[in-house]
Formats: sequence, structure tokens, C-alpha cells
Amino acid sequence: MACQSQADHYVAVQSVDELQEALAYARGHRLAVHILGGGSNLVFADKVAGLVIHLHLLGKEVLGSQEADHCLVKVAAGEDWHRFVRWTLQQGLRGLENLSLIPGTVGAAPIQNIGAYGVEVESCIHRVEAFHQADGTQHSFAKSDCVFGYRDSIFKRQGNPWIITAVIFQFFQHTPLTPEYAELNKRWLSLGAPDDPLVISELVCQIRQEKLPDPKDVPNSGSFFKNPLVSNADYRRLKQLYPKLVAYPAGQQWKLAAGWLIQETGWKGNMHNGVGMYEKQALVLVNPGKKSGSEVLKYAQLVKASVKEKFGVLLEQEPVVIR
Ligand SMILES: Cc1cc2nc3c(=O)[nH]c(=O)nc-3n(C[C@H](O)[C@H](O)[C@H](O)COP(=O)(O)OP(=O)(O)OC[C@H]3O[C@@H](n4cnc5c(N)ncnc54)[C@H](O)[C@@H]3O)c2cc1C
Repeated sequence: MACQSQADHYVAVQSVDELQEALAYARGHRLAVHILGGGSNLVFADKVAGLVIHLHLLGKEVLGSQEADHCLVKVAAGEDWHRFVRWTLQQGLRGLENLSLIPGTVGAAPIQNIGAYGVEVESCIHRVEAFHQADGTQHSFAKSDCVFGYRDSIFKRQGNPWIITAVIFQFFQHTPLTPEYAELNKRWLSLGAPDDPLVISELVCQIRQEKLPDPKDVPNSGSFFKNPLVSNADYRRLKQLYPKLVAYPAGQQWKLAAGWLIQETGWKGNMHNGVGMYEKQALVLVNPGKKSGSEVLKYAQLVKASVKEKFGVLLEQEPVVIR
């Protein structure tokens, strides 16, 4: 998210060799390393100590024939996510259409297993290639090694030492479309339910543009909080107290709509000193005043505290804080 911040050191790298050089420089000067992709899921502290490495690794390669019933595509970490999604669809590769228009880079997509409209990126991931920050070893993670979960993976854990350099995606020819999300489904049916992933992508873009502020116009990092998971007992207790509670079953648990909790505590459309929760979508924290990271976090803390006080539910922040 755009906010006022200053790093001690910054470098943009365009190859794995340059990445190695930057890491060696950081080791030599005992600098902490921070990896920057598109910056869409980050809050920078007012001052960032150490070296910010901006990944500009580019390129994509089709591994194997597109005629077979499946195809593998290797993509460098710095490629723009949405442009990549559109490219896959133009090649006739199905599976990522619901994830259209998510800001950021390909390399960051596995980190929090990006998801939208009922699909998570893990469904198309075959392997993840990464580079160990400390000892320089390279490793290719099989999908099962990535331990993907809801907005989570092994790469999101505290102290993750791996820098993702490339992602290998797997696409199957007969992957069915998944337009289950109600608004998407309605628009798709109104067009005659075409079996065309490009149509789904267009509809997803339409819906997102109507609901979410463009980070280029209004600084924001999308959903600022994860939808909290609660036990069945907690869900029943809350549903009795608040019959309009919005929640979805998630295995043995329930996923509460964090946006509804925030709206019901009165924060939707509330602006304080240039920071606020977006008027059209209570889950999105906006920073039109381009305030500092500490002011953004202070505001988020107020929202968290009032949701905890009213519902007894702890919201967990989605963007990463870089200090
Ligand atoms: C308007 C808006 C809408 C959004 N909608 C969604 C949505 O629908 N679903 C969803 O899941 N997310 C959504 N997001 C969040 C965001 O788009 C994703 O998390 C995206 O993957 C972040 O990519 P990035 O390149 O900008 O990562 P950054 O913000 O640059 O980095 C995020 C984290 O990943 C680390 N990182 C980045 N690249 C690498 C790498 N190659 N190797 C190791 N670490 C790395 C960074 O150090 C940081 O910790 C949205 C954000 C915005 C602003």
C-alpha cells in the first residue's frame, strides 16, 4: 500500500545472479533483507532498516506440448499477475480466470495462496522454485511441500528464508469453469452460461472494478483482515445473538465475513485523519491521505479492538508489515 516510508537501502534485481549479488552485499554489510514484489500486500513502517530487494525477474516458458491434456508453464516471479492470467486465457489455458485483476506479482501469489470467487491459486500450482536467503541454495518445492491453506503457505510463516524466483503452473484442458459465487453466477447465466474462461475473467474484472478501489487512485491493500475461522459452538452463539451474521461453512469450522463484523461495528465509510474503511466494502482499508504505515496500523488496531469488544472475535491482519 502506498504510504510514506523510507528504506536505508534499495535495489531492483532482474536476474537470479543479481539477486545473489544483492544478498551477498546484504550479508557483507549485515543488513536485514526485505523482498518487494508489487507492494500491494505490504505496509511499510515509517523507516525500513536494511535492504529492500525489488524482484524484477521476468519471463515465461511453456514446458511441454499444449496439445496434451495438460500443460506446464514456468513463470518468473516478477511477472505481473493479472497480465499473466490474461495471457494464459489467450493461450486457451483454463483455471486462473476467477483470479483475474488481483494486483501483484506471480512470485507473491503462492505466499498467501491468493484466492477470489471460490478459487485459490494452489489449484493450478505444480511446483515453486525458490532461493534460500542465507545459504544461497535453490530448491524446487512440490505443491504438497508448500502446505497451502486459507491465505497461507509455508512461505508466509514467520522468518521464511525462501525467495520465490519462479512458479510452475499446471493447466488441464478440461478444467470446468467455477462461476459459483452468486454475483458472478448471475451475470454469467444472463449471458447464456458460455463455456468460456475469458468471459468469466471479464465478469470478474467488472465485479472487482465496481467493488474495489484501484490502488493507483486510492492507496489500499485489498482486504485488510482475513475472514476469521471460528468453532461451530462460537458460530451458533454468535448467530443467536446476531441473526444476520454472515458466515460460510469451512470444514469443521465457520468462516465469518470480516467485512460484516466491521460494518456492524460502524467502521464502514469511516475516515479518520486520511485513513479509513472503504465506503463500498468494509473490509478494505484505504489510505487516500497517503499517511505513514504507523498511522495505518494505529487505525487498524482501533477497528480490531472494537470488533473484539462487540463480537469477541479477533481479526487477523492480512498485509505484511515491513520494518
Ligand atoms: C485492490 C486489491 C485487491 C486485492 N485482492 C485480493 C484477492 O482478491 N485475493 C487475494 O488473495 N489477495 C488480494 N490482494 C492482496 C495482493 O494482491 C496479493 O497478496 C498479492 O499476491 C501480493 O503481490 P505483491 O507482488 O504485490 O506482493 P508484495 O505486497 O510486494 O509482498 C507481499 C509479501 O510477500 C513477500 N514477497 C513478495 N514477492 C516475494 C517473492 N518472490 N519471494 C518471497 N517473498 C515475496 C513480501 O516480502 C511480502 O512479505 C489484493 C490487494 C489489493 C491492493
